Amino acid sequence: MSRFLQSRYASLEAYVPGEQPQDKKYIKLNTNESPYPPSPGVLAAVNEAEAARLRLYPDPECKVLTRKLAAMLDVETENVFLTNGSDDSLNFAFMAFAGGNTPAVFPDITYGFYKVFAQLHHIPTRIVPLKPDFTLDPADYYNAGGMVVITNPNAPTGMLRTRDELEQVIRSNPDHVVVIDEAYIDFGGESCIPLTKKYDNLLVVQTFSKSRCLAGARLGFAVGNKELIADLTRLKYSTNPYCINRITLAAGEAAVDENDYYMGHCREIMATRTKTARALTELGFEVLPSAANFIFAKPPKLSGEALYKALKDRGILVRYFSAPRTKDYVRITIGTPAEMDALIAAVQTLCGTVS
Ligand SMILES: *Cc1c(COP(=O)(O)O)cnc(C)c1O
Repeated sequence: MSRFLQSRYASLEAYVPGEQPQDKKYIKLNTNESPYPPSPGVLAAVNEAEAARLRLYPDPECKVLTRKLAAMLDVETENVFLTNGSDDSLNFAFMAFAGGNTPAVFPDITYGFYKVFAQLHHIPTRIVPLKPDFTLDPADYYNAGGMVVITNPNAPTGMLRTRDELEQVIRSNPDHVVVIDEAYIDFGGESCIPLTKKYDNLLVVQTFSKSRCLAGARLGFAVGNKELIADLTRLKYSTNPYCINRITLAAGEAAVDENDYYMGHCREIMATRTKTARALTELGFEVLPSAANFIFAKPPKLSGEALYKALKDRGILVRYFSAPRTKDYVRITIGTPAEMDALIAAVQTLCGTVS
């Protein structure tokens, strides 16, 4: 820390991203990326001609991509807000809709970035524990008295709530924004986007990083009532109006055009998830029901950390969270069937057969 950093940031605990080691080639099942490449149209769009146009600023309004995305989601362009990854949309939502007398309200076990955004913007928090079996009880968020943030399906548990259950939360908080982070919704959930037409306090956030195979491009978006979107746009234009680069815009446009390609791969990942969960259960793991592209599982015999380390030694990366309620578990991203076969083989030698 330099002697110039202002005291208001002195105790900020930054988000710790999943490791991206470069020492050797790993089977990477630790950051919920897609194991599949972007669609052919994306590869074609990220071409020399687009690179040559890098001397020009991108369109700050992202008009073409906004129009395509609005059509795909069945909303109007004024309801769509695009950012450099969905982390940026979430950051702007915390900035805009919480603080002062409005705490941010979210579960104890969820996406780790929420508490960082709260700390960064000096927003008070009210942390609501998940039930002992890791389910999120929607009733815990009725009349929450602050901005509610729910990841659905939740991370790192993968557990899903229905749109009807979340509608109760949205309806019971008419004077506060409810943010539903749908980073993993394409892997078996029901999006709340249709409810944005009915509730002016709902903001739904999604990303191209997981189901759309574009984690490296950094592209995310929020959908909501046009006044909410105007507020977010005001903050974006006060920070970095050109936050989405030309190459990413071109990639995003092509990805929307080829939606079927991505939804097909999501179905494959869901099938691989079912098989992997079954195999791990047979090996004595306790596997939470997942509607995401990862599973959260408790190994027999070994601690979460011990399994994480042993797998890393064998060239397989998974994610381990050291907090008291999650330390017995590992989060495993669903890769290709061959990658999951390698995982299961490694786990078999490490944990042995139980039955
Ligand atoms: C991955 C993830 C994000 C952020 O994704 P971006 O790559 O910034 O779009 C947001 N929320 C959750 C719950 C995530 O898992």
